[in-house]
Amino acid sequence: MTIRLVKGAYWDSEQIWANQRNWPVPVHTDKRKTDAQFERMTYRLLQESDLIRTAVASHNVRSLAWAMALREKMGIPQHRFEFQLLYGMAGTLPAALVGMGYSPRFYVPVGEPIPGMAYLVRRILENTSNDSFIRKFFYQSVSPEGLLNDPKQEDGNE
Ligand SMILES: Cc1cc2nc3c(=O)[nH]c(=O)nc-3n(C[C@H](O)[C@H](O)[C@H](O)COP(=O)(O)OP(=O)(O)OC[C@H]3O[C@@H](n4cnc5c(N)ncnc54)[C@H](O)[C@@H]3O)c2cc1C
Repeated sequence: MTIRLVKGAYWDSEQIWANQRNWPVPVHTDKRKTDAQFERMTYRLLQESDLIRTAVASHNVRSLAWAMALREKMGIPQHRFEFQLLYGMAGTLPAALVGMGYSPRFYVPVGEPIPGMAYLVRRILENTSNDSFIRKFFYQSVSPEGLLNDPKQEDGNE
């Protein structure tokens, strides 16, 4: 069985739905906490590699590098692990992953126009959000050190 780990594409709507109903907001509101949790969950999944195949789905180089380093350190074979990317969104990342010996899997949206438009809106919201990795990398030219900062040291939990 493969488990795909994602940060979640419904961050904006989760907050709106919760606020409308006076529920506690179920998502982190500090991006470092989301990233740190993603790293903890990557480790948790890799610990169970004898039972499950881990699919790390992200375009964030820090999140991918963390998964790559953990996999190597824990001695998990490549066939128990894969990277997944959304077609057209990852720039030169796929070529870099292939150059490092990985075979990333691409996801391509297929289906009806209305869900397709919702998908497009989610991607636009995601990529233009202030904390988006893609925005920081492609449009704000944040330094490699800034992009690779350890979120676990900054999120106040560790
Ligand atoms: C192959 C693939 C399949 C996917 N399938 C699904 C799926 O089935 N279901 C699904 O929901 N999503 C899915 N996604 C989308 C995924 O959940 C992320 O939205 C997307 O990949 C962006 O995360 P990132 O690590 O690439 O980028 P990053 O820029 O590092 O992270 C962006 C994410 O961080 C979170 N975030 C943004 N701002 C804040 C903030 N201020 N505070 C706290 N957190 C914040 C949001 O979850 C946002 O999507 C998929 C992505 C890929 C690559």
